Amino acid sequence: MQDGLFVHRVAAIVIATLSLLAPTALAAGHRTANFIIEAPTDALARRIGSAAEQYRHDLAVEWLGGPLPRWSRPCPIQAQVAPQLGAGGATSFVFDSGEVFGWTMTIQGSEERIIDSVLPHEITHTIFASHYRRPLPRWADEGACTTVEHPVERARQHRLLIEHLTTGRGIAFPEMFAMREYPADVLPLYSQGYSLARYLIERGGRRRYVAFVGDGLTSDDWTGALNRHYRMPGPAQLQQVWLDWVRQGCPAPPAALVAAAPSNPAGPVSSMASAVRGQSPEPLPAMPPAPAAPAVAAVAGRRSIYALQARRVPNGEPLADQPPHQTPADDAAPE
Ligand SMILES: [Zn+2]
Repeated sequence: MQDGLFVHRVAAIVIATLSLLAPTALAAGHRTANFIIEAPTDALARRIGSAAEQYRHDLAVEWLGGPLPRWSRPCPIQAQVAPQLGAGGATSFVFDSGEVFGWTMTIQGSEERIIDSVLPHEITHTIFASHYRRPLPRWADEGACTTVEHPVERARQHRLLIEHLTTGRGIAFPEMFAMREYPADVLPLYSQGYSLARYLIERGGRRRYVAFVGDGLTSDDWTGALNRHYRMPGPAQLQQVWLDWVRQGCPAPPAALVAAAPSNPAGPVSSMASAVRGQSPEPLPAMPPAPAAPAVAAVAGRRSIYALQARRVPNGEPLADQPPHQTPADDAAPE
């Protein structure tokens, strides 16, 4: 996957350049206000472009309360579309001096999954990057992005969560909150991040979640941020409360609690969020002792589906590229 990702990134640049000269040379290309799409057919490129713009608008309203301004440079999207392709995607961008630029996005899967899961997931990454202008904790980023996927994909993450929790792959919350990078065993970060984001969003809505993450980023005090936004003493206590909730089959929160939360504008994402509740009534064994924190330093030495790349900006300053935010393909395995 890593090799493939590098190929995709290179191809995206080449095709975006070529598309200005010869739009039909390699694949069909389509340009919208904020995206340049390369896809196998013109109809697909247009459909993906239209959906990308719609998600960019609707999801920004959902998360931030209003649409994003137009980007100064469009985000290239390269789409591999085939019925048998596992759904997945990667988005990379660069933060520098509070700005975000250098977008690239690769997406793959069936047309249906690209439109209903991969695209909204990857677009949410770009919305968070545009809003925060700095990297988010991976659990908070991937977790939130997964909440906008199709219920089928979210149910799959929930099944994976149960599997991870019952096979010793759970990540203790204090460690997960401290993680700045993807751990070597990356899938539990997605399943747990998704479940926790869902738990918090069902209790406070998307806007409060965004405010909570922003507070944690600026204060660098996640315990305080949990306390201020969710009246939770800290990550360890939140882990206990969350685990009890998972054991009970993830019941919907009491109506009074939801009513007290800031209201979300009605929209496709809100209705999606309410459709997935109570998806797993199965009993859950106790969370095993958290494994030793996966050493972040060890990540680079292990095979990973995430690519790290160093970039150099025009003025010659070395810049640490943000590793792509990636939706693991359905058939991807970290090892
Ligand atoms: Zn992602």
